[in-house]
Amino acid sequence: MSRSLKPYQKKRDFTKSPEPKGGGKGSKEPIFVVQRHNARTLHYDFRLEINGVLKSWAVPKGVPKKVGEKRLAVLTENHPLAYANFEGRIPEGEYGAGTVKISEKGVFENMKSKKMSTCFREGRIEVWLKGRKFDAPFALVHFKEKNWLLIRLRKK
Ligand code: MN
Repeated sequence: MSRSLKPYQKKRDFTKSPEPKGGGKGSKEPIFVVQRHNARTLHYDFRLEINGVLKSWAVPKGVPKKVGEKRLAVLTENHPLAYANFEGRIPEGEYGAGTVKISEKGVFENMKSKKMSTCFREGRIEVWLKGRKFDAPFALVHFKEKNWLLIRLRKK
């Protein structure tokens, strides 16, 4: 098990939560998922496959729909790739208690000439997301501590 999933596993009791403990394998193209998480406060979790895990951000207002729109995206713990298929109810009293539903899912293309892990480390990601509802470029820009901005870009 990847060390980068330790925080994810420490927060959860898998005898009580139906969430995947780990697992899931990559395919040829990296995946992304957006999950509607109706927890204490409703938010959307945005996840991108980077180095065998899902890098994750909680986006209170959801993925921006208009070009140029910016949304706060708060970095959260890495999730296992298998989480991209997860939908269900996390029981009361458990971490993230509430319901999780997939709102969008697909593959993405790195638009930068650097590796995704480098873009992540440098705090500037540009990806083209190809899902069922949208096919559009987005940027994630780090600005402070765990805070990033998720920005919808113009199609070139
Ligand atoms: Mn969440």
